[in-house]
Amino acid sequence: MNVKLERLSERIWVFPYEEKRDRPNLSYIKGDNWSLAVDAGHSVDHVKDFYKALKEEDLPLPKLTVLTHWHWDHTFGMHAVNGLTLANAKTNSYLADFKKRLDEEGPKFFLAMDPSIGYEYEDGKPVIVRTADTTFTGEVMLDAGNCPVRVFQAEAPHTDDSTLVYVPEDKVLILGDCTGGTFPDWKFDKELGNKLADTIKDIGPEICLPGHWNALSTDIIIKDLVEGEG
Ligand SMILES: [Zn+2]
Repeated sequence: MNVKLERLSERIWVFPYEEKRDRPNLSYIKGDNWSLAVDAGHSVDHVKDFYKALKEEDLPLPKLTVLTHWHWDHTFGMHAVNGLTLANAKTNSYLADFKKRLDEEGPKFFLAMDPSIGYEYEDGKPVIVRTADTTFTGEVMLDAGNCPVRVFQAEAPHTDDSTLVYVPEDKVLILGDCTGGTFPDWKFDKELGNKLADTIKDIGPEICLPGHWNALSTDIIIKDLVEGEG
């Protein structure tokens, strides 16, 4: 299956999510000087498919990959990305913990965690976990060349290590899974939902991109958060 990139805005393209292997959207932000990706994908194959789609559009490979949170489907392709990786310090400590467990126990428990993981790794390729090259706490501003990118932590219902990425020129906010409930029981903390809704309102994006769904208007995202549906 040849999945194509979709253009979301002037500076942003998305390699779209897939349900079967629980692959999230991988975003690509192109500045005048360099490009970055948001999220590293489920495995080496996810990264390869993403980069193939970039090459088809004559887009240069990202020099940096920013992680939205530690979950495997967003991070276990990290060992295969071009350039450097950036995560908040909490995400990196969760990745280090998970890597330690895999080293100690082997990949069996991970492969059994969800059917989608079994599908992603059904060819028997190794599960490789890396921590990010660079970490931040709070917020960091990047400039890819006439293209400022705000990378910041926010309290959110999905995990307690959420990083959001905002491209102000395009008014696009990349959310990862942060608006959803927790894995695997999908419990949704209303207070955290409201906090995140306030954070998003303050930013005022026009387009919000969830991890495993199409881009949505800010109004719909806020409504779902306030109503506690994630
Ligand atoms: Zn997640």
